[in-house]
Amino acid sequence: MRIVLMGPPGAGKGTQARRLAESTGMKHLSTGDMLRAEVAAGTELGLLAKSFMDKGDYVPDSHIIAMIEQLVDDPAGILLDGFPRTIVQAEALDEALEKVGLPIDKVVHMSVDTDELVLRLSNRAICKKCQTPYNLISNAPSKDGVCDNCGSEVIVRDDDKPEAVKNRMKVYEELTAPVLNYYRQRGNVAEIVATGTPDSVFEKLSQAIELTQSAG
Ligand code: AMP
Repeated sequence: MRIVLMGPPGAGKGTQARRLAESTGMKHLSTGDMLRAEVAAGTELGLLAKSFMDKGDYVPDSHIIAMIEQLVDDPAGILLDGFPRTIVQAEALDEALEKVGLPIDKVVHMSVDTDELVLRLSNRAICKKCQTPYNLISNAPSKDGVCDNCGSEVIVRDDDKPEAVKNRMKVYEELTAPVLNYYRQRGNVAEIVATGTPDSVFEKLSQAIELTQSAG
């Protein structure tokens, strides 16, 4: 199965994708996680990406496409989180999947009110190492600044700071909302309202992709 998770920053794509990957065995492909790993490793791509990410801008398409196009035919199935974010990326994904004769089974659009998104992002923190997400109000780590999962440092992402958040919302509307329309024209978009508890969102997501099928 090949699933694309779409939604604005803060919609909970990463949280839900991790959970879905765990329960189905599908490969979770998060371009944001991949870029953060490059930044942490101090690679050339990481240095370049950081200059865009810190401001809430998108990293140029060519770098993102090169990072992901070899991974789309994973036999376990793929769960795309944060990709494609532009029409150019969506077309590149189509091309890569066409080459291996595999379709996108479902695009799931996770929608959340803008006010709630801003609130979520301003309280969001993340483990520097394993990327476990936290909400500093409703789901803080048991020990301040320390990840419950792996014991590494929990930080606020530079791009979750207010100026960058504002820009990320704007960039999403300008560049990523058209991608949603691109898929809507094909009729394979499932809409879910991604508010409520993570469990209830997971339930909606599982229904949207008809999880009774085999994942591969
Ligand atoms: P995310 O963790 O998905 O919110 O991504 C964090 C940041 O990484 C984004 O704000 C962008 O700067 C960059 N990024 C992640 N995925 C992409 C993508 N598909 N295209 C361009 N930039 C991306």
